[in-house]
Amino acid sequence: MQEKYKYLIIGGGIAGTTAAETLRKNDNEANIAIISDEPRMYSRIMLSKSNFFLEKIPFDSIWLKEEKWYIDNRIDFIGDTLATKLDTQNKTVKLKDDKILQYEKLLLATGGEAREWPLPGTDKKGICYVRDLSQVKILMDSVRSSKQAIAIGSGFVSFEMCEMMKKAGVEEITLIMREPYYWYPVLDEESGKMIEGAMIKGGIKIIRENEVKEILGDNSSNSSGQERISGVVLKDGTEIPCQTAVIGIGLSCNLDWIKNAGVETNKGILANEYLETNLPDIYTAGDVAEFNDIILGERVQLGNWINAQKQGQVAAFNMLGKREIFRMVSFYNATGFGLSISMSGDPCPKNICNVIKRGSSNLNEAQGFTRIIIDQNNEIVGGTFINRPQDMAPVNKLIESNFKISSHESELANPNFDLKQLIN
Ligand SMILES: Cc1cc2nc3c(=O)[nH]c(=O)nc-3n(C[C@H](O)[C@H](O)[C@H](O)COP(=O)(O)OP(=O)(O)OC[C@H]3O[C@@H](n4cnc5c(N)ncnc54)[C@H](O)[C@@H]3O)c2cc1C
Repeated sequence: MQEKYKYLIIGGGIAGTTAAETLRKNDNEANIAIISDEPRMYSRIMLSKSNFFLEKIPFDSIWLKEEKWYIDNRIDFIGDTLATKLDTQNKTVKLKDDKILQYEKLLLATGGEAREWPLPGTDKKGICYVRDLSQVKILMDSVRSSKQAIAIGSGFVSFEMCEMMKKAGVEEITLIMREPYYWYPVLDEESGKMIEGAMIKGGIKIIRENEVKEILGDNSSNSSGQERISGVVLKDGTEIPCQTAVIGIGLSCNLDWIKNAGVETNKGILANEYLETNLPDIYTAGDVAEFNDIILGERVQLGNWINAQKQGQVAAFNMLGKREIFRMVSFYNATGFGLSISMSGDPCPKNICNVIKRGSSNLNEAQGFTRIIIDQNNEIVGGTFINRPQDMAPVNKLIESNFKISSHESELANPNFDLKQLIN
């Protein structure tokens, strides 16, 4: 006989776990299961933070929940198990061991995977991604025996990992990016160069508008027979020796089995503001959800912890039959090389109309640098904040309230003006 769950959750990350927690708090009788292809769930954000990466805290602090939590809350955690097929007619999910589970309500909280580096030879030892715990354990090991490393890509992963590797004692670190400046096109050149300046000051070499054409290998000191990366050759012929390469070129979602079942997808799983998919009783949350953001008035897919957590909660409320809209100005923070970098709302909208700058992008000045992004309706839709974290909360409130900048442009541009004064 097939096991039947009232609430079945695929993916046990922060979105899936928060959903399970919310469901249990509001429905004491229901049977709930989480299916996860990872054996045990952990705090993904800690993977790139110095406490964990540099082993300053006990390894066990990484776990999202203790095993006892699942037992106490009567949540079946089925780990190390991939969901492979969805049958929406019979409301079943097939697992990799051919077991079939029935559901009344299904949550797809399957997150994303690190996009693979599309080059021959990426199976070499020392080529590392930073998406899951098993990958980061390999990276930590590789870093310990590396004098030289490279990082590929110009986003959060490379920024955080360059700093981690420096702190871990790697002597030479080179960042290689295709883009003309860091975080292009999300940031403008001035902000990108500000970040690069801090990284260069921190000892990182930066190579722009270039890419690797060949990966070099070395199996001389390796008993396993697997070649280890020994360097890379760039398109312009430059050769860079390295024993570790960190790849941070974005995220992709494995949607085939979901798409095959008739769930509408784009880069992620399409959902409305209630986090409902196009099919009845199927919901989505977290990094995989491409949802209708009612504040920005567009469909967005985000990759941040608080968003995934809050969406897990809202999706659960809707699975319980309450009608709750997901409404939040998203934000993301990263720190490193003496910088605090935050972004909120939509920092790079298609219909960008005006950008108001506050402060200075000169690293030697203490003001920090904020950009307030305005759309064609004269409303604030996003912001980027480098060493000006104090601006983020008020800007988020202004985004949330569809604030029209009208006569306030000079106040917004004045770094000494307290933005809180504009909030009703
Ligand atoms: C190194 C790193 C650092 C980060 N730092 C920050 C930070 O500082 N701040 C911040 O806001 N965000 C950060 N993030 C992003 C944040 O971690 C994610 O936004 C968040 O974890 C997403 O949670 P989720 O539950 O949606 O997905 P995930 O955590 O990806 O969980 C999805 C789970 O579903 C599983 N799964 C997928 N398909 C299947 C299937 N078919 N069957 C069974 N299981 C499946 C996956 O293996 C995974 O375990 C960071 C991410 C990384 C990788």
